[in-house]
Amino acid sequence: MHGGTEVVPLLRAGILDATSLVDIRGVVPRGIAGDRIGAGATLAELECDPQVPEALREACRLAASPQLRNMGSLAGNLLQETRCWYWRLGHPCRLHGGEECFAIEGEHREHAIFANGFCASAHPSDVAAALLALGATLRTTARTLPLQELYRVPTEDDRRTTTLEPDELILDVELPEVERSVYLKAMERKRWSFPIVGVAAARVGETTRIALAGVAPIPWLLDGTLDDATPLPRNAYKVDVANALVRRARAALAA
Ligand SMILES: Cc1cc2nc3c(=O)[nH]c(=O)nc-3n(C[C@H](O)[C@H](O)[C@H](O)COP(=O)(O)OP(=O)(O)OC[C@H]3O[C@@H](n4cnc5c(N)ncnc54)[C@H](O)[C@@H]3O)c2cc1C
Ligand code: SF4
Repeated sequence: MHGGTEVVPLLRAGILDATSLVDIRGVVPRGIAGDRIGAGATLAELECDPQVPEALREACRLAASPQLRNMGSLAGNLLQETRCWYWRLGHPCRLHGGEECFAIEGEHREHAIFANGFCASAHPSDVAAALLALGATLRTTARTLPLQELYRVPTEDDRRTTTLEPDELILDVELPEVERSVYLKAMERKRWSFPIVGVAAARVGETTRIALAGVAPIPWLLDGTLDDATPLPRNAYKVDVANALVRRARAALAA
């Protein structure tokens, strides 16, 4: 574990089981040097560093609480598990290896509007959406990969949501230069709230990359339109929220 803000609650809830814990804070790089950010940097460090592109700074600033941002690391944030209440309460759903997605039939107000046929969980990381829009590349102990290749939509055959191997550590993140970027977030409260929808946008020349948090089981790169969404009966409102945020993000980049 790094900051432990995800590992400890999962241990306490009985979802993670461990006989020993390894503190990796001494081996994962920290700090910001030009376009490279150590994966051990805390969200608190990133939210106020002027070298960090605005979308990432804002995604960090709007995440969690000051105490959590002081402990929580960049890599830990990218690897946080779903906040789906069925999963967190240990119900034997598909993501836990079971046969059913309880959210699809049950309570799914905060769940996914894309890629939600097998598991409707909504990826909670503001930071991942910002990095995805910024075109981030990850360096791990085994490989270098675009951020989107860290994630996979879970399927019947493979329930994992990331491609990280059990012995693989994320070391740092490299960011290409962008002209402007922005992160906007709709949440239940103004503070300490996961994204209902988060929208990150980054512009390079004529190209604008848009990525969303809270809309799919993984951070979602918008390469079509929001009309492609497949909302569930009680979360179609997220499409409207996402449309409004995407419009505002584009306007902010054009200003
Ligand atoms: C109440 C609450 C509210 C929150 N709100 C938000 C929010 O609004 N938006 C948001 O984006 N996030 C939110 N978070 C998530 C929070 O930002 C993360 O818990 C935090 O960033 C995780 O970092 P950590 O270092 O504590 O991770 P840890 O708990 O130490 O680790 C988390 C996972 O990452 C793995 N890991 C950590 N570092 C590495 C590495 N370098 N390489 C490989 N694996 C690694 C661990 O093994 C573990 O599986 C919230 C969390 C809580 C508890
Ligand atoms: S949305 Fe995913 S995590 Fe939640 S109950 Fe369904 S299968 Fe489980």
